[in-house]
Amino acid sequence: MQFSDLQLCSPILEAIKSEGYETATPIQAKAIPVILTGKDVLGCAQTGTGKTAAFAVPILHRLNERRVALQPRKPRCLVLAPTRELAVQISDSFKAYGKGLGITRTVIFGGVGQNPQVDALRKGVEVLIATPGRLIDLMEQRHVDLSAVEIFVLDEADRMLDMGFIQPIRRIIATIPQQRQTLMFSATMPTEIRRLADQMLKTPTVVEVARVSSTADQIEETVYRVEKRDKPALLAHLVKELPMYRTIVFTKTKHGADRVVRHLSKYEIKAEAIHGNKSQNSRQRALHSFATNKIPVLVATDIASRGIDVDGITHVVNYDLTHEPETYVHRIGRTARAGASGCAVSFCDREETANLRAIEKLIRRQLKVVNSPLPPSPAPEQQDNRQGGRPSFSDAARGGHQQHQRQDRPQPNDQPQQRDRRDSRPPVGGAFGRPQRPMHGGQRPTGTHAPRQPHQQPAGRGAGHRQSSQPSQQNRPGGNRPPKRGGGKFRHPMRAR
Ligand code: AMP
Repeated sequence: MQFSDLQLCSPILEAIKSEGYETATPIQAKAIPVILTGKDVLGCAQTGTGKTAAFAVPILHRLNERRVALQPRKPRCLVLAPTRELAVQISDSFKAYGKGLGITRTVIFGGVGQNPQVDALRKGVEVLIATPGRLIDLMEQRHVDLSAVEIFVLDEADRMLDMGFIQPIRRIIATIPQQRQTLMFSATMPTEIRRLADQMLKTPTVVEVARVSSTADQIEETVYRVEKRDKPALLAHLVKELPMYRTIVFTKTKHGADRVVRHLSKYEIKAEAIHGNKSQNSRQRALHSFATNKIPVLVATDIASRGIDVDGITHVVNYDLTHEPETYVHRIGRTARAGASGCAVSFCDREETANLRAIEKLIRRQLKVVNSPLPPSPAPEQQDNRQGGRPSFSDAARGGHQQHQRQDRPQPNDQPQQRDRRDSRPPVGGAFGRPQRPMHGGQRPTGTHAPRQPHQQPAGRGAGHRQSSQPSQQNRPGGNRPPKRGGGKFRHPMRAR
């Protein structure tokens, strides 16, 4: 469906056009007409499906249809988001799609001084985008009054639940008028979310696009069997060897994220971490460096990564294979957004085998599993005795890459690699009691993880075309560049709003 087929006012259509979008993604095609009628919507959609525009665009249209005088501290629309990053990005979307309308908005979140936020509220805004904690703080201080809210959006409801926001949300909802339009979006629909939806929404239209149990067609997923201690070397190797142009690496913990950054710097790979211990400024700086190609790797914890909206992410690395299968789906959804393609690479050590099984159960298929292309390092107890030691990555980089490409990189038939005879341990891949499966016919061998080109006309992941016949990025002249989108015109990866 084209945006021009939707009954939207011309300034919004113009703004959408200037963003480079013509075709509505599936969630937009389904949700926008319903929201325009004023009905409640329960949207089951992951990030990356274009869901922000799916609610921001019709909300702007409706607010614009009936303009009222600004009232200090009394927004007409409230959008709740779980993290400040997501809140900022939602605000940017309202700004972009509403640029010809003059609809006022502000975003409020914790971790920064409240005075500028209070000032903005005092002047009056039509759209308020907020994280729950700061909103409650400001409500208690009477800087915000929700009694004039006409449209309420709860975004990423399942994450809100994970982050313990359910009570604050109930408190907030209790102060919003019953007579309102409510839109609730969630990537997953566990029982508690359904219960919340039953309480919040009135005969909602359910709009579902990509079920959480299905990962995007455009994502090529590979799992590397690797010992925990070999993960840093494998990551550095893949960043250089594939190469990975714009990569998000997910770690379980904040310290783990910092450790990965330190390890990568030993291999002369620039990376920065974003997590809850970092200041808002340093997170924004890291995101900016990443989006402007100053660093190829961003290392993030799951919570900090929520709402990162950088286009053209070529690779997602699950450095720690999460024990929450839904989180795997969320993580890999950072790549292959809005019709582009991408690669998800997961490191699975022996303790994470059960996590791999759980993920495969959720997505209802087996993932392609290959051995680490690097020789396993000796176990810690062997390290002192070893002679000569494992070749360092820089050794491999100096003379070993070509050799590695010929000999060590798993071949399409994916045979377990030969073992170093000095190492008495079993090979990395076959040791976890899971037979290695051959790759499916037609799949590219591991190591050709260069993503396919995004669609010329992004149509959302629901369009589902794979472009596997495209040459890989690394084979293309000037291949070490981020992919283009939007009809081949290079588009800044971060929304320039
Ligand atoms: P979201 O799911 O809202 O986080 O959006 C994912 C990405 O898709 C964002 O970078 C949007 O700018 C982009 N996007 C949203 N709608 C469209 C569209 N109709 N066509 C192409 N890209 C889109």
